[in-house]
Amino acid sequence: MIRRMKGTYDITTDIGYYQAVEKQAHRVSKLYGFKEIRTPHFEARDLYHRSVGEDTDIVSKETYDFEDRGGRINTLRPEGTAGVVRAFIENKLYAEKEIPQKKYYLGSMFRYERPQKGRFREFRQFGAESFGAAHPSADAEIIAYAVTFLRALKLKDVKVHINALGDKDSKIAYQKALKDHFKDHIGDMCRDCQKRYKENAMRILDCKVDKDHHAIKSAPKTIDLLTDADKAHFESVKDYLEVMNIPFIIDHNLVRGLDYYTHTVFEIKVSEALLGSQNAICGGGRYNHLVESLEGPATPAVGFAFGLERLIMALKENNYPTDTPYAHIYMVIMGEKARLKAHDLMQKMRLGGLMADADYLQKNIKGQFKQSEHKNARFVAIIGDAEVDGGAVNLKDQKTGEETPVAFETLYAEVVERLTRPTHECQDCDHKGEKK
Ligand code: AMP
Repeated sequence: MIRRMKGTYDITTDIGYYQAVEKQAHRVSKLYGFKEIRTPHFEARDLYHRSVGEDTDIVSKETYDFEDRGGRINTLRPEGTAGVVRAFIENKLYAEKEIPQKKYYLGSMFRYERPQKGRFREFRQFGAESFGAAHPSADAEIIAYAVTFLRALKLKDVKVHINALGDKDSKIAYQKALKDHFKDHIGDMCRDCQKRYKENAMRILDCKVDKDHHAIKSAPKTIDLLTDADKAHFESVKDYLEVMNIPFIIDHNLVRGLDYYTHTVFEIKVSEALLGSQNAICGGGRYNHLVESLEGPATPAVGFAFGLERLIMALKENNYPTDTPYAHIYMVIMGEKARLKAHDLMQKMRLGGLMADADYLQKNIKGQFKQSEHKNARFVAIIGDAEVDGGAVNLKDQKTGEETPVAFETLYAEVVERLTRPTHECQDCDHKGEKK
């Protein structure tokens, strides 16, 4: 038997969670003025080398690269920002009248990582990018958007970690301070950190091996090396978050591994008790020079990406309800004459927008009722030879237990009427679930 590839999985019983999350992603994106963008699952390898960074773990160790039959080197996208930025430039979205251009995406990303809880080789992200606004309110807006999405999913105990890297001058000053700080400690740190020390000392702070090393814990803080303008930007982001009532934690060690970040960076985490060490469900930040470095016009930008697998693992722990009815009406059929009529009725109801289903395996009545329960059907319509002759089904409301004959011609209208009928939970009478 051919099995699925390591680090991948099939979405079967969890599909309700994905659909619930995607529904909220579409809904909340609209509230914040973001429109969907779909970009290819593979891009030219160079795109990631020039954006994410040559010596990041993602690019140096984790990409799926392949040469196509035309000799081009392709890469399966390991993250969404680079592709959206490429699309922004290639489609000249910067010339659109609507500014900022706000885009969101949903889809698979691919990284050749060591699979573990919350870490896969194909995983899904919901991400967003806002192009054109340099103002700190845009940083705060993107964080508020991410938090509103989580609130819509009723996910509790999430913490927003934020930090500021500043722009180029602040980042250069910080790199220098870090090199000075780690000079005497780097000898007893991991090999990757020794490499990072030479290439980009900031990444030492992201190290998973040495994360408890005293030198990491005592490292200089980015905010102490910010220029005055960058400091003011960060202060303003905090003001906007406060005014929108978004709680946050300032996390001095949060630098995020990719080259392109400037100013605000953030992560949203759930407790380790919920997800273990892979407890970051969202990461993002500002990237003011990426568009320019990929040969677009200078355009400030800010974005985020949620990992859907981790988010869904957290939702499951929170008992997020995903049960939706899968059938409005289930036809319980007795005999072949009734089967033909049932299909006539079902097709009419489906064309009218009702979820109708029936037995296809010639099960007995008990078996068909069982299927109607598995389908979570609100109504069951019983139809046999006598019903065909009489021109009416026996309609059973599974919610109230009420059973009434309903003429074929009025079945659709009757089901629609009962589904939309206002219900009330009466304290003093027995009209439960029914209009008084
Ligand atoms: P990143 O930009 O790498 O921080 O990714 C953003 C989010 O995607 C993270 O906070 C995770 O929730 C998720 N993510 C990243 N890598 C993986 C992976 N290998 N498997 C599952 N989720 C991931």
